[in-house]
Amino acid sequence: RTKPVLLETSGLCVNYGRVEAIHNVDVRIREGEIVTVIGPNGAGKTTLLSALMGLLPARGEVRYQGQPTLGKMSVDALVARGLVLVPEKRELFGEMSVADNLLLGAFARYRRGERDQAKTMDEVFAIFPRLAERKAQQAGTLSGGERQMLAMGRALMAKPALLMLDEPSLGLAPLIVREVFRVVQQLREMGVSVLLVEQNARAALQVADYGYVLENGSVAVENDAKSLLGDPRVIESYLGLG
Ligand code: ATP
Repeated sequence: RTKPVLLETSGLCVNYGRVEAIHNVDVRIREGEIVTVIGPNGAGKTTLLSALMGLLPARGEVRYQGQPTLGKMSVDALVARGLVLVPEKRELFGEMSVADNLLLGAFARYRRGERDQAKTMDEVFAIFPRLAERKAQQAGTLSGGERQMLAMGRALMAKPALLMLDEPSLGLAPLIVREVFRVVQQLREMGVSVLLVEQNARAALQVADYGYVLENGSVAVENDAKSLLGDPRVIESYLGLG
């Protein structure tokens, strides 16, 4: 792991009232890497992503592209710098078409005067041909897998440097899950770094370069993804048989 650091936290803590959901978390994502955060329900994975995106008050330090962000950069500023989140609930505009949902992902760039949305949309369609076939369809009528593709496609319209995905495989059939993980690997080849939060630990570790196991709000284990796949603690708690 020698590439430049893209995002780094140090002593990150998040509270919900008196309850500490994230405690002293240190994670690091380097350029061109897929980093995964795995862990059980309620471990604090979604909270971690929300804090990185500036959606929740947090303590400690977060540096993105070398700059401290906590309390210093708005969500808009972070998105403009290429930090983009695909939330677990996908949050599409159901009444709008696939194409219009995609265009909304590029709105911040449009406002900055960038006028390459059609070309970017073609790039997204090349990654997700299914969306091209359905560009006029209402987003609310898409299947679960198509909705996840649209949520990822919309995020890509913002031209992320670091794409954060919250449980992209949740609720999807095995074939679609494979497709989602294939795209995650394709993104790395395109130079997009990925922070992948997953309950599907085996699939996540198979595509990732590095992984963190989050338990009760703290990092319990971290290592190269390959080593985690062979780590008895990880096998016993998260990989099971198979
Ligand atoms: P899952 O995989 O089930 O989504 P997670 O690892 O993403 O779990 P979080 O959603 O980050 O976990 O939740 C971490 C802890 O914080 C949980 O105990 C949860 O109940 C609590 N929590 C999350 N959001 C809030 C909130 N808005 N108010 C109070 N407690 C919260």
